[in-house]
Amino acid sequence: MTIPFVDLKAQTDEIKTGVFDDFGHLLHRSDFVLGHAVERFEASFAQYTGCLHCVGVASGLDALRLALRALGIGPGDEVVTVSHTFIATVLAISSVGARPVLVDVDPAYYTMDPSALAGALTSRTKAVVPVHLYGQCADMDPILETARAKGLHVIEDAAQAHGAHYRGRPAGSLADAAAFSFYPGKNLGAFGDGGAVTCSTADVASTISKLRNYGARIKYNHEIQGENSRLDTLQALVLQRKLDRLDCWNRARIAAARLYRDLLKDISEVMLPEDRSDALHVYHLFVIQVDCRDALHAYLQEKGVQTMIHYPVPVHMQPAYEGLQLTGGSLAVTEKLCTRILSLPIFPHIKREQIEYVADTIRAFFRI
Ligand SMILES: *Cc1c(COP(=O)(O)O)cnc(C)c1O
Repeated sequence: MTIPFVDLKAQTDEIKTGVFDDFGHLLHRSDFVLGHAVERFEASFAQYTGCLHCVGVASGLDALRLALRALGIGPGDEVVTVSHTFIATVLAISSVGARPVLVDVDPAYYTMDPSALAGALTSRTKAVVPVHLYGQCADMDPILETARAKGLHVIEDAAQAHGAHYRGRPAGSLADAAAFSFYPGKNLGAFGDGGAVTCSTADVASTISKLRNYGARIKYNHEIQGENSRLDTLQALVLQRKLDRLDCWNRARIAAARLYRDLLKDISEVMLPEDRSDALHVYHLFVIQVDCRDALHAYLQEKGVQTMIHYPVPVHMQPAYEGLQLTGGSLAVTEKLCTRILSLPIFPHIKREQIEYVADTIRAFFRI
């Protein structure tokens, strides 16, 4: 048996007929940039995330960047985030001219350690970007409390958390603004790149819609120096179709995670992911920890099971951030995690037999 890390084909098949119809109508209308389809998806996704506004942009990276720009973050400012994340989180901060300050993560949940945040603040800190990693929300209440006390903006990196909840509130509605990615492999993924910012402040939404469209609300009336970062209209049609299925697909991910948990729980060498009791984890990834990670990774590969490491090198150890001064305190948890984590195959259409095969193969590796 061979088990891919993700298989998007079954998702595509579910929506294909509807998407072809929608593409046909779009070709007929030929309004290829923004237009009705983007507006409709923005309204639907705002409602889905419990926000008043959603602005579609070109990628998750741009969603973060434009949210930072709209909140006035720029050169001379410090923005606190984590090193245990995809590099885009940090690139967004440095690309607007601000300085990323990287803090450690909680060893149980892998998201920003709220106590590390408090220790990283200076008079130059302007914003905090917690990441809802692997599909589980960061511990937002203590983060928001610290940020509010200092007048800081908070932007959620929700690129892995479409449909996740924290204390009854949806990811995307927990702070001043949130950035989503619609990269194909995300819980809500397009047929290419895409992203969105959600928020409930009209000013911020309006600035982002100008920023993504050359700084103009009315054609050729450029109020600010914007850029070209619009959610592609064809992608909006795909996302609209997939949004209808997102909760169902997330439930399938949660069921897959439950089965993994059940089948792996008696293997003492395997540390399973922990769910916050007050949150809904939507399992973008199912990440275990083991001592002999590289050997297990190679063994599974040899037996046809594709696994991945998210992420093998923390951002502060990447060549791209060689010169970055580390002023956010110890990153010991981050540095240890990256040697022990392994992401197992998970996607909405993964089959029971596939999960059983992965679990059996892990069991065989540990000779039990
Ligand atoms: C995918 C991802 C991004 C970037 O999204 P793109 O659409 O690829 O630009 C940002 N942050 C996190 C945590 C991600 O997983």
